Amino acid sequence: MTTARVHSFESFGSVDGPGIRFVVFLQGCKMRCLYCHNPDTWKIDAGQEKTVEQIIKQALRYRPYWGKDGGVTCSGGEPLLQMEFMIEFFKALKQEGVHTTIDTGGAPFTREEPFISQFNELMKYTDLVMLDLKHIDNEKHKELTHFENTNILDCARYLSETGKDMWVRHVLVPEYTDNDQWLHQLHDFIATLSNVKRIEVLPYHAFGAFKWDEMGIPYKLKDTQTPSEEREENAKKILGVQSFLEYEKSMAAARS
Ligand code: SF4
Repeated sequence: MTTARVHSFESFGSVDGPGIRFVVFLQGCKMRCLYCHNPDTWKIDAGQEKTVEQIIKQALRYRPYWGKDGGVTCSGGEPLLQMEFMIEFFKALKQEGVHTTIDTGGAPFTREEPFISQFNELMKYTDLVMLDLKHIDNEKHKELTHFENTNILDCARYLSETGKDMWVRHVLVPEYTDNDQWLHQLHDFIATLSNVKRIEVLPYHAFGAFKWDEMGIPYKLKDTQTPSEEREENAKKILGVQSFLEYEKSMAAARS
């Protein structure tokens, strides 16, 4: 029986994909983002062990609240580190007609085997990928996450080539990502993709800092402020957030 290492659940998630969603936060992440809200998800062998059946049963209890847009999201941690579980879980959810979303940092992505075959299998049962593009510049990305961005950008390209719906998420961090040059470069990269349905700019907050303290890990961004509304608007403007929202609205109007 396939099991997952789970950090926690959110029964009424409203910021992790379309509509109201049941969110499964999985254990395990190899990135070390300086602003991570959940450093307690990093260890893959921590958390609770749950079977696919247990999680499906728990999720489906909330189905009446999902409406036509909601469903289930797997976030983390990094869901792509638990592929066997993800495939079985999403396959079962699709059999139930549930909308499925993955919120991923993309770090495990490679076009090499055995990963790519598993990824392709998972994509058969995945309606939407929310991909965090944390920095467009590789050196800066390494500074921010301790990880390269080359395979993550390739993940975005691959999802575009294969026509998988994708939302891009970008955390705006003063001195790291809140810089017009980087934002324009990110915009230019996104403009090469044909599958992006939405861009979300998430202003940096030190919400997870207390967890770093509890875990005895120095929090490097302790003096970093949340960006101003002006800077947030500036980033949204450069990345063209509004045009995606208008497109979404026009598609919704056409459907109704
Ligand atoms: S990818 Fe997500 S879970 Fe992993 S370190 Fe970064 S913010 Fe934390």
